[in-house]
Amino acid sequence: MSESAGAQRGAVELRGVTKRYGDESVVDAVSLSVHAGEFFSLLGPSGSGKTTTLMMIAGFAAVDGGEILIDGADIARTPPQRRGLGMVFQNYAVFPHMNVFDNIAFPLRARGVAAPQIQSQVTRALELVQLQRHATKFARELSGGQQQRVAIARAIVYSPPVVLMDEPLGALDKNLRYDMQSEIKDIQRRLGMTVVYVTHDQEEALNMSDRIAILDRGRVAQVGAPSQVYEQPANRFVAQFLGEANLLDGAVQRDGASGLCFAAAGGMKVAVREQPGFEHGAQAVLFVRPEKVLLDDAAGAPLSGEIRRRDFLGSVIRYRVACDGSLLTVDVANAAHLKRPQVGERVGLRWLADDASLLPASA
Ligand code: ADP
Repeated sequence: MSESAGAQRGAVELRGVTKRYGDESVVDAVSLSVHAGEFFSLLGPSGSGKTTTLMMIAGFAAVDGGEILIDGADIARTPPQRRGLGMVFQNYAVFPHMNVFDNIAFPLRARGVAAPQIQSQVTRALELVQLQRHATKFARELSGGQQQRVAIARAIVYSPPVVLMDEPLGALDKNLRYDMQSEIKDIQRRLGMTVVYVTHDQEEALNMSDRIAILDRGRVAQVGAPSQVYEQPANRFVAQFLGEANLLDGAVQRDGASGLCFAAAGGMKVAVREQPGFEHGAQAVLFVRPEKVLLDDAAGAPLSGEIRRRDFLGSVIRYRVACDGSLLTVDVANAAHLKRPQVGERVGLRWLADDASLLPASA
């Protein structure tokens, strides 16, 4: 195992990949291009087809339509063990009766690698996952986090160009998950390998990925860099799935004096920036994240409203503000220098033009 081994290998391409159970296409003509060396996540709610997609790449589920290519070669009919992919699952899948060293050496022995080489490759993998001091312990003597490190080491020890991970941190508690996210990302970068990562945890996907595919009922709703899918969701589903969102139904209006406006169904009216495809009369959804809305003095602000609810969430205060017939969610950081009004107070509201966008009404 060498640093950056496989940097040029490991491109994964799905072309119209479909999986049917009975009449239902649980993965429906999914096309994706994962670049070599990329950390790519499949993100979506439970049942959206993430694991099925990963299992088809791995070869554990048959493909009912479409093609899967690794570095340009169609692998649809290649058995799983000959696809050369590393795999890490949620439930560790380490061998409890073997010690850590033997667990990690297992795939090398299965490939007939010579003993001195096994020694050096396992030692290197142990260093990468910081388990050098635990090599002779039985896997069952380790904590959940340590067992998952063993599973990761075993998946990367033979330098596969692509590693598939299915909710690998799902069984760990929150703080450990967060630390392990950085560790996995660090290992992926150092080895230059491609990771296809399944998670239903949007924060995890946003934190770890170079790009994310968001799945909705077996279809790709959007593919993009974390900031792109969060700040510029393609539709209502993506906007809602990736965190809190204000989504107001209404119509676009253009009047000579004030340019493009959005008129919410409840009566609220606000200026919006120009966006291709949204002209006067078009039905649309106005999208703005709660943390992008700034609370201000009522005088002089473009919108004003009354605080109806105030929820203390620790790092933020979440407000519901009644504003000209619409109810807006506003997150204010819990910091003394910011305005943090009480229920019943009147406030002004504003946001930067780039922080709000129009989404198609139908989605
Ligand atoms: P996710 O990983 O996004 O939670 P899955 O890929 O596990 O979703 O499942 C997608 C859909 O396929 C779900 O509706 C699930 O019930 C269905 N499904 C998965 N495996 C099978 C199976 N072996 N037989 C029938 N239906 C299945």
